[in-house]
Amino acid sequence: MEELARFLEQRKEERLLRRLSPLAWRAPARAATGDQEYIDFSSNDYLGLSAHPALIRAAQDALVKYGVGAGASRLMSGDLDIHHALEEAVAAFKGAEAALVFNSGYQANTGLLPALVDRHDVIFADSLSHASLLDGAVLSRAKLIRFRHNDMDHLADLLHEQRASYTRALLVTESVFSMDGDRAPLRELVALKERYHCRLLVDEAHATGIFGPQGRGCVEADGLTGQVEFVMGTFSKALGGFGAFLASTQLVKDYLVNAARSFIYSTALPPAIIAANLAALQVCRDEPSLGKKLLLKADRFRKALQREKWKTGGESQIIPVLVGESARALALSAKLAECGFRVLAVRPPTVPEGQARLRFSLCSAHNSTHLIKVLEALNDLR
Ligand SMILES: *Cc1c(COP(=O)(O)O)cnc(C)c1O
Repeated sequence: MEELARFLEQRKEERLLRRLSPLAWRAPARAATGDQEYIDFSSNDYLGLSAHPALIRAAQDALVKYGVGAGASRLMSGDLDIHHALEEAVAAFKGAEAALVFNSGYQANTGLLPALVDRHDVIFADSLSHASLLDGAVLSRAKLIRFRHNDMDHLADLLHEQRASYTRALLVTESVFSMDGDRAPLRELVALKERYHCRLLVDEAHATGIFGPQGRGCVEADGLTGQVEFVMGTFSKALGGFGAFLASTQLVKDYLVNAARSFIYSTALPPAIIAANLAALQVCRDEPSLGKKLLLKADRFRKALQREKWKTGGESQIIPVLVGESARALALSAKLAECGFRVLAVRPPTVPEGQARLRFSLCSAHNSTHLIKVLEALNDLR
């Protein structure tokens, strides 16, 4: 076990050690430890749906009706009508023929990629793709080629050089990138995958609930419904619940039920969570402008940061403030915490060396006072 201790010691020296630090409670845009309350800029509960009365009521009703656990995998006795109702609702929401629910975004991606490609194939993935996509790529045994972030010229060059050497090719991207808050050029990706006979997988984890009419995601927002073979999204972020989905065709769904190991060999999601996820989709239909309002607020905050000469970017509710070294990001995050703001410091290896940052996750529950106050606090720390 000495090597484990050495690993931790080294992480600590490099100021990269991760530690759990439990909260006493959290709510949309708020969090508290035993002795301090915070305005929270670090959760992905973008629309505050985790605390929405309709989701809570749906989960409570389902708890009483079905009990807590699902009891088995979907292929055994864990498959309930309510799982199918959610899949039909997702398919309608996404304008897809069919959808399959996975237990989490991580399990969706680590199940999908190995089911869709194998060692004769190739995956071209954006270099900033989420760890779950990269882990899925490794599990698939396909050749993994990473293109520079959002660099379509680089991708086109790689496709030109490498595509012909493999049987099938899968392009992989997020639609909204979790650490940079920017969007993928989906139209160009669709054009390239047509030209080079690839398929395209888009991870909408941070776009679902936010972008497009009723929060249907960037594929819809960019007018590409029906042109992306595999559209994945999660219930765990803006939708306030838990779990994930793939929206695709009935053929793909039937295939995945037989081939996606993370689907086959894991207990079905609890019915109360499924009910909450269904209610979240209904909230999106009932209040179609939630995402748009949040994006407008984020835009104003980004512009305010820029006016104060902070180095920022993105075009979503995720706003990075680039500060350089890990130590500086950690120090700023700690000082902001003293002032009552929880803002995550994101460091290598999650982001490239020298690009440590504060990551602001904006939520519907942040008001203009919160935003003015946190900007003042940040300016005072310069
Ligand atoms: C959060 C996230 C996931 C994982 O989803 P979980 O439901 O939290 O497991 C997958 N992909 C991206 C891009 C994410 O941001």
